[in-house]
Amino acid sequence: MKQELVFEAPRRALPPRHLADLDEAGRAEAVTALGLPAFRAKQLANQYYGRLIADPQLMTDLPAAVRGQVAEALFPTLLTAAREVTCDAGETRKTLWRAVDGTTFESVLMRYPKRNTVCISSQAGCGMACPFCATGQGGLTRNLSTAEIVEQVRAAAATLRDEWGDRLSNIVFMGMGEPLANYARVLAAVRRITEPSPDGFGISARSVTVSTVGLAPAIRKLADERLGVTLALSLHAPDDELRDTLVPVNNRWKVSEALDAARYYADQTGRRVSVEYALIRDVNDQPWRADLLAKRLRRALGPLVHVNVIPLNPTPGSDWDASPKPAEREFVRRVRGGGVACTVRDTRGREIAAACGQLAAEGG
Ligand code: SAH
Repeated sequence: MKQELVFEAPRRALPPRHLADLDEAGRAEAVTALGLPAFRAKQLANQYYGRLIADPQLMTDLPAAVRGQVAEALFPTLLTAAREVTCDAGETRKTLWRAVDGTTFESVLMRYPKRNTVCISSQAGCGMACPFCATGQGGLTRNLSTAEIVEQVRAAAATLRDEWGDRLSNIVFMGMGEPLANYARVLAAVRRITEPSPDGFGISARSVTVSTVGLAPAIRKLADERLGVTLALSLHAPDDELRDTLVPVNNRWKVSEALDAARYYADQTGRRVSVEYALIRDVNDQPWRADLLAKRLRRALGPLVHVNVIPLNPTPGSDWDASPKPAEREFVRRVRGGGVACTVRDTRGREIAAACGQLAAEGG
């Protein structure tokens, strides 16, 4: 069934308030409202962001008598791991989370020799209806709250520390959902992720990637926030005719508008933009499309762009498949020949259905 484009999330209640929803002023206010001294706000943030503890019973610097009250007001259990699957010799781990209202979504933790990346969701489901994407086929359930986004990060960081004695280094908003369609909450989550301890996890903004189908006005707005996060634009086709079908939002903002917005982003932030290109056999992998892609990117972005070719991870029931390796190599060769940096993304987690939304689509 063909999905419709949906920009506004259905009006469903968000989960109860959590410490991770609040900025410094909000935390101070919440703590005061509980009748606690103001310095407790900093303590709670320290426990949460610094020590990755979300259960007040384990916060030893908090008087035992107030732990229950703090737990109820600021640390509701937002996420429960409903299912976990691993592959790549345990170095890729996918978690299906269940929220308080039963909604499910996923995150994927990937260990590499020099970095540890978590791929997180910004919405349960997605309204962008891209036909090759498992999440796009299921439609949009609801936006995630800021704390539901942040909790995915905390869980990943805690797993790395507790099981591997290692640290989380990179965050990519490439799980379920269109981050820029849940703008305010994603922005707040990015602030919690990047602010130095005790206000946040202190992960450098350049190690955070926000991936979008190309909501041009929201890209410009994000540029104006001057956060310095990496922008990834899911292009998947250099021409409007094909992109209108692969990324339906192209009917609203054309390739040229998405690229102009990306250029604005690069200019404002000084950061190179990543262009994502899921290579689909006989659909978008023709040599002439590689040439056109390079030409348009050079013209729009000059050196401020890098193409990530992603071999398509076929979704169940779809006719589409990844391009054969020779076609992929030729595609990359031509993009590079056109003067644009281009690499093939490694494909972690294929056998655990880690591509965008595939685990949730299996029904948990
Ligand atoms: N909505 C955002 C972020 C989520 S998807 C976006 O579209 O950018 C992250 C990336 O995975 C996007 O580039 C998306 O197009 C790509 N993707 C989705 N399904 C895929 C599949 N089956 N195979 C390969 N890449 C896929």
